[in-house]
Amino acid sequence: MTPEERLARHRRLSESDHKNLWHPFTQMEGWLAEEPLVVDGAEGVFLVDTLGRRYLDGVSSLWCNVHGHRVPEIDAAVREQLDRVAHSTLLGLASTASIECAEELLRWTPKGLTRVFFSDAGSTAVEIALKMAYQHHQLRGDEARKEFVALRGGYHGDTIGSVSLGGIDLFHRIFQPLLFPVNHAPQPYCYRCPLGKKQLGCQMQCADEVERIFTERKGRIAALVLEPLVQGADGMIMQPKGYLRRMRELCDREGALLVCDEVATGFGRTGAMFAVESENVVPDIMTVAKGLSGGYLPLAATLTTERVFESFLGPFGANRTFFHGHTFCGNPLACAAAIASMKLFREKAVLASLPGKIDALARALLPVREHPRVGEVRQRGLMVGIELVRDRGTKQEYPHDARAGHRACMEARTMGAVLRPLGNVLVLMPPLAMTEGHLTELAGIAHESIRRATEKLDRELAA
Ligand code: PMP
Repeated sequence: MTPEERLARHRRLSESDHKNLWHPFTQMEGWLAEEPLVVDGAEGVFLVDTLGRRYLDGVSSLWCNVHGHRVPEIDAAVREQLDRVAHSTLLGLASTASIECAEELLRWTPKGLTRVFFSDAGSTAVEIALKMAYQHHQLRGDEARKEFVALRGGYHGDTIGSVSLGGIDLFHRIFQPLLFPVNHAPQPYCYRCPLGKKQLGCQMQCADEVERIFTERKGRIAALVLEPLVQGADGMIMQPKGYLRRMRELCDREGALLVCDEVATGFGRTGAMFAVESENVVPDIMTVAKGLSGGYLPLAATLTTERVFESFLGPFGANRTFFHGHTFCGNPLACAAAIASMKLFREKAVLASLPGKIDALARALLPVREHPRVGEVRQRGLMVGIELVRDRGTKQEYPHDARAGHRACMEARTMGAVLRPLGNVLVLMPPLAMTEGHLTELAGIAHESIRRATEKLDRELAA
């Protein structure tokens, strides 16, 4: 393709996008005023656009890519599966790929989780967890257990059930009349503690608040649902050590199920295969998606224990069936990608490679911590949130519509990295396959982007 042909193709595709598509979580008026970056391909941890420019995939194509793009082993597994069958249903039929995928998944997940219910997105995995927990108690005759506890700032997906659990006002408030009531507990957000505590000397009163809800709603809570260790979508908010363990003990004492949503944290992101391992916690229900297929194809799973599974068993007429299922539950192509991805974790000793990478990223982020417009840099494994502030001393936030995070991401683009912000938080969530060199480069681009974006923004706000 000549450069002219390439440009003409880019223009045609951009115009067509602007004319025909509606992008997720996107203010389309702003989108239509900007030239889109059109991804046309990828090489390893780089995305390539229609103009042939390369970008580090700094947020793993929305937190899901694990081993990079176009990984020969995963590509081959998907191609081999294509030669057998692309899709068959799990409603009334079994399939080779889903059986082998469940076997492989159960080799990695915490012992005690024994059953895999497949679906196709994080939201559906959470929806399934909700209904499973609810019906489990009903079937056991514990009929008062109809309520859920979740955390403010939590995010579990965009279907109405998962939005009910969600606690991010900006996304969820408008839908309030459509949602079922959930008991929301204060967020363990130490930089801006909702209880006004100082990090030093904190007795984890936020955990006491969850206990208080359980006491007030004694015998009525079906499950506590949370993102373990890191609340991703609210800006990489990290829980204090011991918090998750306390939640496990609380649920055990109170007879409620603990549902851990590992959709974002699963598959090595926090340094362990699953975040719950860091506090030796085995949830009653665990949801995974995103990284399950290596970030290749839509696949999710809701895992549970034999105890929960058994409460659904009974003669046909007893109506104990779990009436839930999606057309593409356990899609064979996606399962083939997932099997290949999980095998790569073993063959390439991915988890053993992480401590060095996590340290390298932390070192590369040290100068970012010193920037006067950076309030806090939060890192857990390869999940990073850089909170931008207008004033470091008072923690004053940039106004929401100033789009500080977005501006930094646009600067990053001109330097060869794709990032996506969460409000005023710049997120780095690189594929586990990035080398220490890539990670250092990514942190450097983030730093320079923050410098350029906040200088311009400060000038505009002062004018
Ligand atoms: N749970 C968590 C913790 C998530 O971060 C997300 C997505 N970011 C979801 C659920 C929803 O997943 P999906 O977008 O695949 O529906």
